[in-house]
Amino acid sequence: MELAPPRGTTDLLPPRSDRMRRLYDDAHRFATLYGYRYLETPAFEATELFSRTAGDSSDVVRKEMYSFQDKGGRTLTLRPEGTAPVVRAVVGAGSSASLPFKAYYVELMWRYGRPQKGRLREFRQFGVEVLGTEAPAADAETIVLGHEYLRRVGVKDVALEVNTLGDATCRPAYRKLLLEYLEAHRDRLRDEHRERFRENPLRVLDCTDEACRQVAAEAPKIADHLCDACREHFDGVLGSLDEEGLPWKRVDTLVRGLDYYVRTAYEYVSPALPEGQSSLGGGGRYDGLAEILGLPPTPGVGFALGLERILIALDAEGPRGEPRPRGVFVVTVGDAAASSARELVRELRRGGVPAQMAFEDRPLKAQFRMADRSGAAFAAVLGEREAEKDTVTLRRLADGREETVPRGAVVGKVSGSDV
Ligand code: AMP
Repeated sequence: MELAPPRGTTDLLPPRSDRMRRLYDDAHRFATLYGYRYLETPAFEATELFSRTAGDSSDVVRKEMYSFQDKGGRTLTLRPEGTAPVVRAVVGAGSSASLPFKAYYVELMWRYGRPQKGRLREFRQFGVEVLGTEAPAADAETIVLGHEYLRRVGVKDVALEVNTLGDATCRPAYRKLLLEYLEAHRDRLRDEHRERFRENPLRVLDCTDEACRQVAAEAPKIADHLCDACREHFDGVLGSLDEEGLPWKRVDTLVRGLDYYVRTAYEYVSPALPEGQSSLGGGGRYDGLAEILGLPPTPGVGFALGLERILIALDAEGPRGEPRPRGVFVVTVGDAAASSARELVRELRRGGVPAQMAFEDRPLKAQFRMADRSGAAFAAVLGEREAEKDTVTLRRLADGREETVPRGAVVGKVSGSDV
């Protein structure tokens, strides 16, 4: 039997699982701080939800969907991205009454790509969505939130790239211009795009192939063809970012992989990661998405950040300190002390201090080894001497410093000392 996890998936074990959980914790904390409400949608959806919204020319729909038929003959797909399900769930349920609706998720995603470092078949995203407003301030809020989050979880260097993709008013004319340009430079495109560019010419702009990039660099720029409303919107977004003091870089070739984006598109890039996998996440505006699903028109904007990618960026930026030790490992000497030790563990936990002890009677040395490995900040020793005097010896595991503390004062002592 194969014991490795399926190709493109990973087991999350300590200490990496602890780091991932801290990313979750910070996602919940940050989204809440900005007034976003937590939601979950099913891990699988009708395939149509993704094929209709993402567009037939997107990589996700063409190559990467994890689709299957269930026993009832339904065609389903494991969620490859979070936005379409959120729009389906929120707008479909008529929650639009209380718009704007600000929501966030921290969820698994599945894409059937070729696995490599930073590209998995099962991965995690933290995403936020604001539904029901066209205000540039909403675009800016999501951009700031994502950026602040990345800084807070410890990414030192994040480059914010922004662009606008125009909308239904100005994009068609630009698209036509781009098509003409690409038609004239067809021979220079890489094989895959030589025919495909007609389906979605914008995709050529963010192709990572060197030949395509040269063609893209000289291509007409959407910035020169925006309608007044789109220009005003983009100026509003950039103005808000300036007010926040958030540096941004305008990248004309930045387009999002999914078809439903209009106007604002942005990406957080880590210079510490190799090109092609340097995106920590990105987002943009998707005002037409709800209508594609047959729902009332509902503008929206949001981002998704790749959590595995963030961990890789943190590693790439250089070594960090070990996680801070927390809590108490209670060490006992002699049978008599064991029940008193169990009571101490209960008291500590009731006081909100992480606490544990060995399940079995073990030699003192073995218990200290367990304490060291447990990640606890203190060992609390309960032996005969301590029992006689109704005290506990507290040993700080980092440097071995010991002090004798009255039994009744232990919880107060360790809960006040940064455990
Ligand atoms: P997307 O939804 O394609 O805009 O992706 C947003 C972010 O999710 C990317 O910037 C990556 O950090 C992450 N991501 C996307 N696809 C994968 C994948 N196959 N494996 C790991 N992370 C991914």
